[in-house]
Amino acid sequence: MAHVAFIGLGTMGIAMARNIIEGGHRVVGYDTNPHAVAIHTANGGIAAPSPAVAANGAGIVITMLPVGDVVTSVLLGDSGAMETLEPGTLVIDMSTINPSETDAIRYALSSKDIRMIDAPVGRTSRHAITGELLIMAGGESKDIEEARPVLECMGDSVVNCGGPGMGTRIKIMNNLMSTVLNVLTAEVLTLAEATGLDRNLTVDVLNGTTAGQGHLSTTYPGKVLKNDLSPDFMIDLARKDLAIAIEVSKELGVPLALAGKAEAMYAEAHNSNRGTQDWTALYAMLRDKHLSHRQHNT
Ligand code: NAD
Repeated sequence: MAHVAFIGLGTMGIAMARNIIEGGHRVVGYDTNPHAVAIHTANGGIAAPSPAVAANGAGIVITMLPVGDVVTSVLLGDSGAMETLEPGTLVIDMSTINPSETDAIRYALSSKDIRMIDAPVGRTSRHAITGELLIMAGGESKDIEEARPVLECMGDSVVNCGGPGMGTRIKIMNNLMSTVLNVLTAEVLTLAEATGLDRNLTVDVLNGTTAGQGHLSTTYPGKVLKNDLSPDFMIDLARKDLAIAIEVSKELGVPLALAGKAEAMYAEAHNSNRGTQDWTALYAMLRDKHLSHRQHNT
């Protein structure tokens, strides 16, 4: 049985802490919201009056807090966990924060020989309740393996992301993609309705194509990720189709926020002699433009 301090018993944290308790561990919780702490004790947890008291004697300290400033103050500030943590203990920050904040916290903790894993989570609060989160763990592999029994109380998939700070970094990439796709999804369904299309039918049709299934699992694996830019579907044809959609949006008076930016990128690809390449060559273009001074992976 591990002695775990859990700081941040909000929407996500309260369920994650409960799943660790149900995994047979002793969980001492702290939150500034007394209502959250009351639920934690009703779930079988123990309450502490500060992060320092929660962390006293703990082998693992987990933080699940809204932003990096709060994670920093709870771990490193007055009455913070670092005041009582013994050298060799393990901090696991599961919040979504800026990677540079993750790096700074890890550095500060290392001055007392406290190890850190950044382990933000994918999926939703429903998955936090069922213990089926996807956990993106950054840290030394031996530390991730040591934490695995506790992490597996909260998630059904614990991914070693390749080193300290990499969990936070992949989480930000994940959320960049999902937050921007959310805007595009809302725009497409709004424009679809303006054209007179039935919404359910639109959802069904788009779920059957690259639009709904996403490029990462459909077009990219067989083309640009294999450095094959021969056209399955040409940049210039994709550009033509995007232009039609923008015309339709103008005719119907439903402005599109993202399409104009995308159009500029297809135009850039056309103007750099990529018009007859596969549409996934946009990725090759951006790598050439922004990463050519670094070492490519492929
Ligand atoms: P939340 O706002 O519901 O919970 C945060 C908790 O932290 C609250 O209970 C709050 O009282 C507590 N808190 C704030 N300041 C504190 C302090 N100084 N000391 C102790 N406790 C303090 O947020 P959430 O939805 O649980 O999200 C937590 C993190 O997980 C965020 O970084 C979020 O981006 C990330 N996340 C959330 C979801 C989701 O679906 N909600 C999914 C994946 C990742």
